[in-house]
Amino acid sequence: MDADRLIAPGTQPDDLETDVSLRPKTLREYVGQQKVRENLSIYIEAALQRRDALDHILLYGPPGLGKTTLAFIIASEMGQSIRITSGPAIERPGDLASILTNLNAGDILFIDEIHRLSRAVEEVLYPAMEDYALDLMIGKGPTARSMRLELPRFTLVGATTRAGQLSAPLRDRFGMLFRLELYTPDELALILQRSARILNMPADEDGIREIAGRCRGTPRIANRMLKRVRDFAQVRAGGRVTRQVAHDGLDLMDVDRLGLDRVDRNVLLTMIDKFTGGPVGLDTLAASTGEDAITIEDVYEPYLLQLGFIQRTPRGRVATEAAYRHLNRTPPASAQGDPNAAQLGFLDENT
Ligand code: ADP
Repeated sequence: MDADRLIAPGTQPDDLETDVSLRPKTLREYVGQQKVRENLSIYIEAALQRRDALDHILLYGPPGLGKTTLAFIIASEMGQSIRITSGPAIERPGDLASILTNLNAGDILFIDEIHRLSRAVEEVLYPAMEDYALDLMIGKGPTARSMRLELPRFTLVGATTRAGQLSAPLRDRFGMLFRLELYTPDELALILQRSARILNMPADEDGIREIAGRCRGTPRIANRMLKRVRDFAQVRAGGRVTRQVAHDGLDLMDVDRLGLDRVDRNVLLTMIDKFTGGPVGLDTLAASTGEDAITIEDVYEPYLLQLGFIQRTPRGRVATEAAYRHLNRTPPASAQGDPNAAQLGFLDENT
């Protein structure tokens, strides 16, 4: 069993079917992200009362947390259709122009990985978002003139794992920005119970809890683990997902009790053993572990930060005492509350 595949929060072929069948369809069914839900329900109700389109919405946060799901929910709560595309799929300005001119009033346009739009495509998006207009150039050279085409009032829902990479003009054109957070074990347990019900899978509360604690705060990984544990339960334990079955199944998949896999452990051990706990720069860490820097930053780091196993400092990443202990290593004095630790930037969490 390849642990990478189990942990990776991005979509995998196996997930497509489950993603669709397990995706909550309404805001009420959507678990967690309380603030986002509350705000959205108010904006949606207000827009419905005014019979107006919603403002453009940017959703950001690590993969697998429910951005696409929210976009579908927004469309269905608004009673509108949704058109789905992604940054890399829109190669030329003309591609975007044709999508925009085919929208109907009130439609939701969902652009995943919106940070990957090219500059030229972005330029088309600005007037479309701001004035619901498309500026076309007719002709070439000195006789060229621009023509403005009106577009229906649509709502753009953009999703990105890296809000920092969005250009300022694009970011400013969103009326609402929502950051999705990793889920708590209680929220994940609710999601897993619902999934087990939909998939007709007998599961004990303890079994669900075991998975909830090991899926790194990510619903997509939770659902994927549930399916794998079901296979394990079927072959080894008469089909029921008990705590022991979940425990043994996930151990066999090389996911430890906190949800860390081989790559997480490799990243932490590299920091600890090769760089005496850091600080170590992201690129150096990537080169030393053989992982991609973006993957470390987007996929592995958010959970390690949440666990308090690493901290980001101006001079790079630092492994904390908790990380040393989890990996059975003795923390150096600097990681044990030594006042000098502050000089390493230990206290600076916001960089
Ligand atoms: P993203 O677009 O952020 O990568 P998705 O919206 O595709 O993530 O979510 C992945 C899967 O996780 C969905 O198919 C859904 O089954 C599940 N999921 C995500 N968020 C929630 C939630 N809040 N409640 C229940 N299930 C969720």
